[in-house]
Amino acid sequence: MVIKKRYVRVVAALTAVALLCLWAASCATNPVTGRPELMLVSEADETQIGRKTDAEVVQQYGAYEDPQLSAYLNGFCQEIARVSHRPNVPYQLKIVDSSVVNAFAVPGGYIYFTRGILAYLNNEAELVGVMGHELGHIAARHSAEQISRAQLASVGLGLGMILVPELRYVSDLAQFGVGLMFLKFSRDDERQADDLGVEYASKLGYDAAQMADFFDSLALMQPSSSRSGLPEWFSTHPNPVDREKEVDRKAEEWRQDLGLRNPKVNRDAYLRRIDGLVFGEDPRGGYEEGGVFYHPTLRFQFPVPSGWKLNNTHTQVQIVSAAKDAAIKFTVAAKGSPAEAARAFVQQNRASVVEQGSTRVNGLPAFRLLSQVTTQQGTLGILSYFIERDGKVYVFHGFTPANRYRGYASTFTATMEGFSEIRDASKLRVEPNRIRVKTVSATGTVRQTLRAFGAKEENLEKLAVMNGMRLDDQVQAGSLIKVVEKGK
Ligand SMILES: [Zn+2]
Repeated sequence: MVIKKRYVRVVAALTAVALLCLWAASCATNPVTGRPELMLVSEADETQIGRKTDAEVVQQYGAYEDPQLSAYLNGFCQEIARVSHRPNVPYQLKIVDSSVVNAFAVPGGYIYFTRGILAYLNNEAELVGVMGHELGHIAARHSAEQISRAQLASVGLGLGMILVPELRYVSDLAQFGVGLMFLKFSRDDERQADDLGVEYASKLGYDAAQMADFFDSLALMQPSSSRSGLPEWFSTHPNPVDREKEVDRKAEEWRQDLGLRNPKVNRDAYLRRIDGLVFGEDPRGGYEEGGVFYHPTLRFQFPVPSGWKLNNTHTQVQIVSAAKDAAIKFTVAAKGSPAEAARAFVQQNRASVVEQGSTRVNGLPAFRLLSQVTTQQGTLGILSYFIERDGKVYVFHGFTPANRYRGYASTFTATMEGFSEIRDASKLRVEPNRIRVKTVSATGTVRQTLRAFGAKEENLEKLAVMNGMRLDDQVQAGSLIKVVEKGK
């Protein structure tokens, strides 16, 4: 039996190799290196994958709405495209509404900067260097290569929470598209993207060495965890050895070659553009306080079980028990009435219904469903509430292995039946923290300057890093500095 299985596997592997060779016969030329390469993904595929991934990125993480800032950033994107190795790709840049510090690119020309990374960049030269690096990944077809590799290896792209295996299937996150940018590039690809970033920035007259300074600041940052589910720059960009030194050296080479006397840095121009940028988590998209989750924009609240961990993303709220053996997922149904949404859930998951019926939750029409779903790893007990309010159907699913359901039934019920309008108006009046760009009035150290603008002691270090400085560095009167204005 075992031998037979192994034999089948060998045959399958050989077939894969044979197929691979067929494809290789029509292999492509890399736009950057000019060398032929194995590429299972055509340019048309890239466009298609890009479009699909883009829709998922925007849906999953949300776009940051600031048309002026978007237009400003896209201007650079088009300039870089012009001097790149693939000027004909329709590049576009989008701002992702996440506090995580990261930038990424997917095939088809889609480049993303989080508002988190925009807060940490300090001048146009850094911006163009990092954007050039991301555009470089597309120009050199790194993602396309990776998809090819991923297809060959059938890499699982799930990025669900770490829970008991039975619970994984419920995670909506395990989608091919969004998984794409979490494929790490190789160190060689990173090095090449750095080189391209330096090349493109230099060709546009910028001081490409600034990018090395930005990598230094990134290294000083404390990795933060964000509810958005997006990883940080360093977890998606493996750090090549001597990266900063290499960038500095290449920048100097290009400077010589191009005869750049006074390469542009443009610090003030950049900083003025990000004045007012939302910083950190945005409570208007939901926040937890005193054991209650409030969503001020949609004006609802519900209790969070004590000791459970809540993760609020753009599309759903996930709450996980301390033992990680139960979870509550909260989303909005695609369409239909509460009963229709329940029916769709039963169909999609081939759920066997234990109990179901119409009910009311704090006066709102609702449908309650208790069901079991069999997965490869075992059977889940699932309590679901579908609650209609303001033309939307809000959905709760509480799930746990079926044999543990009894222990969690009352916890699930308390959260779901606790769904209501926000009654305390003060919970509606929240404002996010924002970046404010201030003019320094007296020359002094970064420490003195930040204190003068009212920064708290515990935030000084972080603010200095955000400004690309050390606390003992000098800042001149009349120069600009970033501070964080506290929201409500
Ligand atoms: Zn990269």
